[in-house]
Amino acid sequence: MIASDHMHDRGPVPRVVAHSDVVVVGGGASGFAAAIAAARLGVKVTLVERYPYLGGLASGGMVLVLDDMTNGQEITCTGICMEMIERMARLGLCVYPPASERRQDWEAWRKWSRWGVFDFRAQVKPQPIVFAAAFDPDGWKRVANDMVEEAGIELRLHSWFSRAIVEGGRVTGVVCETKAGPEAVLGTIAIDATGDLDVAASAGAPFVHGSYIVTTVFRLGGVDTEEAERFRFAEPEKFNDLDRQAKRVIGGAWDQWWLKTPLPGVVWCNCPHMAGLDGINVKDLTRADFEGRKRIYALVDFARSNLPGFSGCYVVDVAPQLGVRQTRLLEGEYVVTKDDVMQRVHFPDTVARGRDYYTPYRSLLPKGVEQLIVAGRHYSATEQAQKISREIPPCMSMGQAAGVAAAIAVDRGIKLRDVPVEQICGKVRSQGGDPGDRPSANARVLEVQA
Ligand SMILES: Cc1cc2nc3c(=O)[nH]c(=O)nc-3n(C[C@H](O)[C@H](O)[C@H](O)COP(=O)(O)OP(=O)(O)OC[C@H]3O[C@@H](n4cnc5c(N)ncnc54)[C@H](O)[C@@H]3O)c2cc1C
Repeated sequence: MIASDHMHDRGPVPRVVAHSDVVVVGGGASGFAAAIAAARLGVKVTLVERYPYLGGLASGGMVLVLDDMTNGQEITCTGICMEMIERMARLGLCVYPPASERRQDWEAWRKWSRWGVFDFRAQVKPQPIVFAAAFDPDGWKRVANDMVEEAGIELRLHSWFSRAIVEGGRVTGVVCETKAGPEAVLGTIAIDATGDLDVAASAGAPFVHGSYIVTTVFRLGGVDTEEAERFRFAEPEKFNDLDRQAKRVIGGAWDQWWLKTPLPGVVWCNCPHMAGLDGINVKDLTRADFEGRKRIYALVDFARSNLPGFSGCYVVDVAPQLGVRQTRLLEGEYVVTKDDVMQRVHFPDTVARGRDYYTPYRSLLPKGVEQLIVAGRHYSATEQAQKISREIPPCMSMGQAAGVAAAIAVDRGIKLRDVPVEQICGKVRSQGGDPGDRPSANARVLEVQA
């Protein structure tokens, strides 16, 4: 029997199945990075994930471009994210532009834009080709499995987190629902990487409920991408007209509604976008699936009949995970604002960075709950700030910092919030990451606060 002030009248008593130093909940990009970082520092890590694979949105959500990882001068997200890119590339399952082709001109644009490896926030035409990586979702799963195995992590798939075990304001474990009934995984520290803040919310940490568009991402096969590209550049007016019509049919898409993947003839479609749906509400999630699929099938009909290169196209798959960008957001010890991101504010407790912005350690720490840290798209930021600071690479950098912090806390027997930031940064650097402790020349550096 596990003692817990959150476990009365909640059905069968969970069976304790694991006892670890660090329990990571959620095997998406951020949870994976957190688990690897912690395990590589020698602590015992259990990683629980509800689905039968690792990657979260990156693989199951088929979000297939790693971007927002360079400020134009340097690559700002390195570490575990870069290792993942290199390992997938060695398998032929990840593509990125070489340094000589990262530039702003039409030739580079023609060659690379359909890979999605451009600075999508740039206000110039053509948008600069930058370091970003297009990858295969199964490549991600394969490399993630290898890395988890090599790091000696206890991975528990098919385990749906249902509640935090909290004792005296401190998280001491989590309960997961499984086919075999409820199971408890106990630990000294928990890392919430569920993307929807499931663990912190269950533990009683303050949060806000944000929202943003959701997307039923899908892939098409049988596409003659060369023919499609030739048509685009040879007959721009005709292309623009048909492309506009296609976007009307799908109803909600970015400028380029399809992008190439490392698999020949297979493109991924980051659409259709749908507004006004709550990513943790079952009715809304179900509606999104029905509405999204209707629009996808309509687009396929249109594309087959009208778009050069698409006459033989078919649906390979609709992403098993709905593209939910934002739900609950932690209201942590510091809440990152849109201004912080836009002004490139550098904090005294910076432990991670994305594109050209910085993440303070306090934005990973919940208020009022001990031995719990968060990483990923639900970190402590305003709704507007999160929208521009939650791409996959920055989530992985946050994860790496959180994993390192957890390992140090376990090793030294101290509270998470007392872990010295310099030690986190030092260890992230020794793992090949960039914790952002050395700000770029254009950062707005804040003085150390009393
Ligand atoms: C449609 C769409 C397009 C995007 N485009 C891009 C892009 O082009 N490039 C880019 O870099 N980023 C993009 N993003 C953003 C990026 O994909 C996410 O912000 C990022 O992947 C979040 O990673 P995460 O690990 O924080 O969360 P998630 O990927 O959501 O991972 C959370 C993990 O926790 C698991 N989990 C959740 N709840 C539980 C539970 N109760 N029990 C057990 N496990 C649980 C999930 O299954 C998942 O594996 C896009 C996002 C969307 C939705």
